[in-house]
Amino acid sequence: MKEDRERKIDEWVESHREEMTEELMEFVRRPSVSRADLAEPGAPYGPDARKMLDFALERFGSFGFRTENHGGYVGSAWYGDQEEELGFYAHLDVVPEGPGWIYEPYNPLIKDGFVIGRGADDNKAAAVIGLYLMRYMKEHRIRLKKSFRMMFGCAEETGMDDFKQYQAQGGKLPDFGIVADCGFPVCFAQKGGWNADICVPKGADILDFSAGNVRNACPGEAFLCIRGDAAEITALLADYADLTAEDQGDGTVRIHAKGRGGHAAFPQGTDNAATKLAEQVFEALPQDRFDILGLSFIAKTFRNPFGEGMGFACEDEISGQLSSNAGVFRTDDRGIHIFLDIRYPVSAPIDAMTESFKKLLSENGAVLESLSIEKPFYIDKEDPRVRILQDCYREITGREDEPYAMGGGTYSRVIPGAVSFGPGLRNGVKPEFLPEGHGGAHGPDEVLHIESWLQAFKIYLLSILRLAEDEETAGTPEENEYPGTPV
Ligand SMILES: [Zn+2]
Repeated sequence: MKEDRERKIDEWVESHREEMTEELMEFVRRPSVSRADLAEPGAPYGPDARKMLDFALERFGSFGFRTENHGGYVGSAWYGDQEEELGFYAHLDVVPEGPGWIYEPYNPLIKDGFVIGRGADDNKAAAVIGLYLMRYMKEHRIRLKKSFRMMFGCAEETGMDDFKQYQAQGGKLPDFGIVADCGFPVCFAQKGGWNADICVPKGADILDFSAGNVRNACPGEAFLCIRGDAAEITALLADYADLTAEDQGDGTVRIHAKGRGGHAAFPQGTDNAATKLAEQVFEALPQDRFDILGLSFIAKTFRNPFGEGMGFACEDEISGQLSSNAGVFRTDDRGIHIFLDIRYPVSAPIDAMTESFKKLLSENGAVLESLSIEKPFYIDKEDPRVRILQDCYREITGREDEPYAMGGGTYSRVIPGAVSFGPGLRNGVKPEFLPEGHGGAHGPDEVLHIESWLQAFKIYLLSILRLAEDEETAGTPEENEYPGTPV
């Protein structure tokens, strides 16, 4: 009976391949960068994100599914009307198209089995999978013991304010759900996020210190402007290969530092140009001649990318080592402002760590200007629901991959009970027609591999049936009459 069902799913997917791909292209044609700066009533992330949400809800509604727009933050579509729900999460917003595209970001096309366009993979592919999961269940009159609820957010790429707002306003969530914005198989642990803005007193001879643009990237270069004699400073820095000093002609010197940039969550192989600049300049210039004390605190506290200087260093077997990135540096009258991105392991005592770090700051005259903490995600690998997802993945792909942990972060961090699972498959299928650096989720010429996408659909369908189907009627779907969703 089981094989019979899988064969039917295969046939259905084959006969809907073109329609499903066309649907995805319709989603991609709508630019949907989340822009809180363009907020309007009912459109907290700007008109594009709102139009995208309206379109998605209209598509689900057109197949007879009940839908709801939750204030423009999040949308829902339901199959079934039981109180208890199984969630399925995707996001409709995309990152800006950025430079370097060979193809058109919002005029998608199919080439060699790939769909090319911004959002084709991240994450509109998952929204369209959700629609087809519901269409399949409806056409086959599948009877579920809990409702299937597709939810899409409109601000995942800009900090997940969408689901934070939805919950802050009292919105209810399914007890358990699947976040389809990652890779297969199950991601069982994600580190917590600790994002802080701090201000450090600089010292009278520092005029400017700047580096980086975003918190979650390690800066590959940094600049420091200080008062002093150019010839003297140049001589003192002569031994430092990555520093170059430039005479500004007005009694000030601009020092440039070269490092190695990278992602905040993966410090191995990176070299933070800003903390290196602070460390080496402080070491090289005599303290009785230069008032640059702020550099000493920055070097001591933030140079180590595993949080040692902050008193944060820790690790656990589940989620690995804490990572610490000082991503952005800016200077004003009050001092040097530093934006930190820290990913902490699931077992870290984060409240106690935060308290002791605040003490360290105040002892040095520094100030914590803002702090936001996202709790880590963890689910037992032996949880029966995780076992079901792993089994379905294994059955469809024939692969034995174990559940994995990562630095984060998907919606799992902000939605309780939401496990990240797929839809990315590590099939290693790369488009041969694109040069190096193209094709990635946030880069130019984003692609979706259609075959892997359809395989992901099958994994999800099987998973949902096993998690939510009414056992008594399972296996004879075509004979079911499902009163909640008339065909
Ligand atoms: Zn995404």
